[in-house]
Amino acid sequence: IERTLSIIKPDATKRNLTGKINAKFEEAGLRIIAQKRIQMTKAQASVFYGVHKERPFFDELTTFMISEPVVVQVLEGEDAISKNREVMGATNPSDAAEGTIRREFALSLGENSVHGSDAPETAAFEIGYFFSGLELV
Ligand code: ATP
Ligand code: MG
Repeated sequence: IERTLSIIKPDATKRNLTGKINAKFEEAGLRIIAQKRIQMTKAQASVFYGVHKERPFFDELTTFMISEPVVVQVLEGEDAISKNREVMGATNPSDAAEGTIRREFALSLGENSVHGSDAPETAAFEIGYFFSGLELV
């Protein structure tokens, strides 16, 4: 059993899509074991996306991520990290497979509705960034 950090991004929270996106996770066998709505500061978003700080889209990405509240959540299940990324679909919605969250809901490469951890080490960092052990049962 594995855990991963998911974020429902501002484009999706703004369009009231949290429930529809959560239904996709649950249908795929992922359990939402923790969830809260927050609005990050620029500093908090910059640390979260620190791996991308040299990328040309870093400022666009962090500005977008603080533009509205987001829903941060921990998903649990068998192979949760890869399963979540499958349900999310490709980063660019025009490459995302039929039935995936990004294919159905994303607006663009930047405004692509969801984030998911990409490896066990990043999942551990990202879960700990938003949740304390007491919130994870
Ligand atoms: P995420 O980390 O959000 O789950 P990902 O792992 O599929 O998505 P990354 O390569 O980690 O994609 O990029 C992080 C995020 O940065 C993407 O989800 C997207 O919103 C944004 N992004 C990536 N490339 C670009 C780009 N060329 N222009 C604008 N935004 C981009
Ligand atoms: Mg990523």
